[in-house]
Order: sequence, then C-alpha cells, then structure tokens
Amino acid sequence: MSKGFLLVLSGPSGSGKGTVSEALMKQNDEVKFSTSVTTRKPRPSEVDGENYFFKTTEEFEQMVENDELLEYAHVHTNYYGTPKEFVFDEIEKGEIVLLEIDVQGALQIKKKYHEAVFIFLLPPTMDELKQRIIGRGTESEQDIETRFANAFKELDFVGEYDFFVVNDEVDRAVSDIENIIAAEKLRVKRYENIKEDMVERRAIR
Ligand code: ADP
Ligand code: 5GP
Repeated sequence: MSKGFLLVLSGPSGSGKGTVSEALMKQNDEVKFSTSVTTRKPRPSEVDGENYFFKTTEEFEQMVENDELLEYAHVHTNYYGTPKEFVFDEIEKGEIVLLEIDVQGALQIKKKYHEAVFIFLLPPTMDELKQRIIGRGTESEQDIETRFANAFKELDFVGEYDFFVVNDEVDRAVSDIENIIAAEKLRVKRYENIKEDMVERRAIR
C-alpha cells in the first residue's frame, strides 16, 4: 500500500484555498482535512470543529505549551495551528492529510517532514485577488488591506513550494491538484516493498 502523506496548500487570503479544498474533498474520499485551531472569530457561515476549532488566546497558548501542535503561526492578527494527533492518526492509516496553512507554517512542516508535498495556490491576477477578498464580504476594510498587503509578502516564498496551481476556475484547480496527488502516489519512496510484493505475486495496489 502507498504510505499516507501531508499535502500542504498555501496561498494568499482570497486565493480560494477553502473553496478549492472543499471541492477537492467532495470528489476524493482519501483526502482528509486537518481542522486547525485558531484565535480568530468565526465567520457567519463557519462551524466550530469543522472549519476551525475556535479558541481563546489562553487556550491556544496552553496547546502550544502541551506540545499539541505540529506547527503554528501568527497570521494577519491571530494565531493558527495544526493539531498533531489527527494528522499522525490519518497518515498512519495511509490517508492524504490536507493542511490549509500559511507560508510560515508550511516552512515549519518542510523542515520536519521531508515527505510532505507543497502546493501554492495563486489567483489569476492580484486585481482579481482583491476583488475576491472584497466579494467574500467577511472582513473589515482594515482587514482586507492587511490581507492584501500580506499577499505580496507571501509570494516571496513561492519558491519553497513544489507546485503552483492557478485558481482561475475551481474545477481546473481541483483537477491540477488531483493530478499532483496521482503522481505523488506513484513515487517509489512511498511504497515500502515493491520488489517483495512482485516476487510474492501480490498486487501492489
Ligand atoms: P481563501 O480560503 O484562500 O481565503 P476562499 O475560498 O474563501 O479563499 O475564496 C475567496 C472568495 O473567492 C470567496 O468568496 C470564493 O467564493 C471566491 N472564489 C474562490 N475561487 C473562485 C474562482 N475560481 N472564481 C471565482 N471566485 C472564486
Ligand atoms: P483565514 O482567517 O482566512 O481562515 O486564514 C488566514 C490564514 O491562516 C490563511 O493563510 C490560512 O491558510 C492560514 N491558516 C489556517 N490554518 C492554519 C494553521 O493551522 N497553521 C498556519 N500556520 N496557518 C493557518
């Protein structure tokens, strides 16, 4: 069996990470979303435990102290982090775990987990990015400016990623990610015993 792996998806706020991941997971049962913890306030449509685990700053700091997070970062004006337990359990089962995290978190993962796959999601243009953030209608004017300014800083790190995907159309972005997953699953290093399975006349998938 192919080993599970981490699929890290980053990209500026408004590039469509949430939209694209949701569509990706609808069509691919083996992709499991790692729900992050955050100190950000929930948006009207967000559900605690689904989109995020919403925490107070004290609760978040306690999780850091207890070493419960795989990575964490201060993004825009809040803390965000990835709980360890779910990730380890799913990888162990051979699943693909999707981390929708910012560039600081991705760099922490890159240092620790060499077998993770890193995808940077881009908007078709920066003007379209701004329109999408405004169009989403979930941030104040000040927050929109912070997120848009941070988008340019995040682009400095695109070279650290393995792949870029342009979210012009959601279906196309999903299909690009599916192709990346398909190729990654065929990496020789993700199989433990190709030769043994063949010799023992076993099917390898
Ligand atoms: P992120 O999670 O990266 O912050 P979202 O998924 O919330 O981004 O998307 C930002 C906004 O852009 C949302 O209103 C979403 O509906 C819209 N959007 C996402 N992808 C597309 C697309 N391919 N074409 C048009 N609008 C999109
Ligand atoms: P938003 O507030 O728009 O949901 O997310 C803001 C930013 O935080 C996005 O870039 C998102 O990818 C990032 N983010 C969400 N969860 C995590 C996490 O667990 N760790 C890190 N480092 N970033 C995260």
